[in-house]
Amino acid sequence: MGDKTGIEWTDATWNPIRGCSRVSEGCRNCYAEGVAKSFSGQGMPYEGLIAKGGQWNGKVRVVDSVFDQPLRWVKPRRIFVNSMSDLFHEDVSFDVIAMIFSIMSVTTRHTYQILTKRPERMLAFFEWACDGLDYPFKIADAWPPGLAWKPAGHGRGGYDNCGPNWPFENVWLGVSVEDQATADARIPLLLEAPAAVRWISAEPLLGAISFEGMWVEFENIAIHQNMLEALDWVVVGGESGPRARPMHPDWPRTLRDQCEAAGVPFLFKQWGEWAPRGPAVMGYPSVEGVLRIRLTDLGENGSDLGAEGDNHAWMQRIGKKAAGRLLDGVLHDAYPGVANV
Ligand code: SF4
Repeated sequence: MGDKTGIEWTDATWNPIRGCSRVSEGCRNCYAEGVAKSFSGQGMPYEGLIAKGGQWNGKVRVVDSVFDQPLRWVKPRRIFVNSMSDLFHEDVSFDVIAMIFSIMSVTTRHTYQILTKRPERMLAFFEWACDGLDYPFKIADAWPPGLAWKPAGHGRGGYDNCGPNWPFENVWLGVSVEDQATADARIPLLLEAPAAVRWISAEPLLGAISFEGMWVEFENIAIHQNMLEALDWVVVGGESGPRARPMHPDWPRTLRDQCEAAGVPFLFKQWGEWAPRGPAVMGYPSVEGVLRIRLTDLGENGSDLGAEGDNHAWMQRIGKKAAGRLLDGVLHDAYPGVANV
């Protein structure tokens, strides 16, 4: 994995960690796992990280040979960190995470986009890195031992490079959520993390998410605000891949509407494999290999996406490319205002 990526909201991927383990329903058809499986043979990059059944086996590997990639990338770019793992996986040591943050902190020309499904470990990392102080000296002190280039002044007291720029302006921290339960569990923890930009990626979106009733205390005083207003960016997408589950069109719509009301940038990344088909095409001729189904009929696909009284939606499996990324005919492609690229 490297410079080029098909992910719509980033310019490059950087994978200093490989390997993962599943944590929730959003991991069921983990895209990274599928890619890793294809490259898990002897001598290949993901050898030893995939179980016989094709799933992650829970092991992670530090790839220090790519630590210098962002240093070598001269042109500023948005970099998705660990598209093939979770930076805050329980088996990635805090020392290694600190080294990765250290590299990010000195390459301020880039914007780093981090997503985790393990926000509790992310918080534990920052607590360790700050060690009771209001600056992460353990990040400032960290530098990968094998990495030759080291910026002058880096290290404790070396504020020239990584401080007092704290929280690091070029590091966006986010959580992946897939439904109301994961949003309720993960977003409050994200809001406790020191970050210049906080975001969520709701992909694959597997259920409706409402921010109504999700309140957060603001600036240590008893003013409560809707949690959505404390976020800087919301990305939404349906699932892709051979076992993709369809996304009811109302789910991204309600997130779009909530973001619009709260003034939060909203990016609709993709429908995924399944695209909505309205009444106008209900008589659409059957095409070989294309299914047309009603969300309430999806039991046999392993999904239970509709209940009695839910709005029905007609979806076709037409492939990610054909399904595109227009929501009700509109391209939603907003980014946080503080992006430095
Ligand atoms: S946390 Fe991410 S990389 Fe890890 S199994 Fe889940 S979806 Fe895959």
